[in-house]
Amino acid sequence: MRIVVLAGGIGGARFLRGLKKAAAEAEITVVGNTGDDIHLFGLKVCPDLDTVMYTLGGGIDEERGWGREDESFRVKEELAAYGVGPEWFGLGDRDFATHIVRTQMLAAGYPLSAVTEALCDRWKPGVRLLPMTDDRVETHVAVELDGERKAIHFQEYWVRLRASVPAHAVVPVGAEQAKPAPGVLEAIGAADVILFPPSNPVVSVGTILAVPGIREAVAEAGAPVVGLSPIVGDAPVRGMADKVLAAVGVESSAAAVAEHYGAGLLDGWLVDTVDAGAVARVEAAGIRCRAVPLMMSDDEATAEMARVALELAQEVRAGE
Ligand code: GDP
Ligand code: CA
Repeated sequence: MRIVVLAGGIGGARFLRGLKKAAAEAEITVVGNTGDDIHLFGLKVCPDLDTVMYTLGGGIDEERGWGREDESFRVKEELAAYGVGPEWFGLGDRDFATHIVRTQMLAAGYPLSAVTEALCDRWKPGVRLLPMTDDRVETHVAVELDGERKAIHFQEYWVRLRASVPAHAVVPVGAEQAKPAPGVLEAIGAADVILFPPSNPVVSVGTILAVPGIREAVAEAGAPVVGLSPIVGDAPVRGMADKVLAAVGVESSAAAVAEHYGAGLLDGWLVDTVDAGAVARVEAAGIRCRAVPLMMSDDEATAEMARVALELAQEVRAGE
């Protein structure tokens, strides 16, 4: 079975760990979000790709959910002593090595997809990890700061401001000119199942779908498309997805996120049992829906979510 997953960072990575357990024989291709990428200290940092790579490769800091385990922050302290920031973005010493290798390879002319493959040679995540594009795409958020309307980098909004001011718009800058990375459209076209993990629907899955050709390939794929809601009980389980959903005019509820993707993309949608009341509304939108526990409390609970998603895909395929 060939499975394609469009993934952001923490939500996507944790789900993938469960999926690998649920479908050990499957060939899994992950199309990762690169809209969160940022250049810091002259280095190219790809937070979502790295979260997937470290989580599946056994190098993640489990508690934080990002960055390396057993980490120290001495390089950052030294940079700060020179007055060089930003101080609000956490980059650990072990993590720095990844960004140095990546930046060095990019400077030597390798595309991000080849660099990601090379980094994965070390981590062996057990999936094929592809960036959504080799081109530069950066998510910017329009906010009002000190009475002035401005666009800031997504990381500045999310990490520095902790999404504390309303987002007026979310723009994946560069997406319109971007091309899907080699292998992305082929994997989607050849998939038996396409999954949207409980990743952020706007700044993770939404950004991937904004790369011209990807949304169309998913919509036209022969494979069933099944998603899992990142919104449980009308709030994000973790993070501030409600803030960016508001920016695109979508209420923070499991049903509204399903409608936002729409029946043109989604064949099936899983909501948490606390949102069982939303099932009828999702089905009225032409999307098969089931309510099951969606808390990724451990790998087994997550594997069970993945099994149900694959079952729902199977039902769609069989036209039951
Ligand atoms: P990010 O790039 O690190 O923000 O990660 P993603 O975009 O992949 O995932 C973020 C989303 O995961 C958030 O909107 C959370 O609500 C969701 N999430 C995190 N943990 C869980 C969980 O245990 N269950 C569900 N259903 N969603 C979760
Ligand atoms: Ca992210």
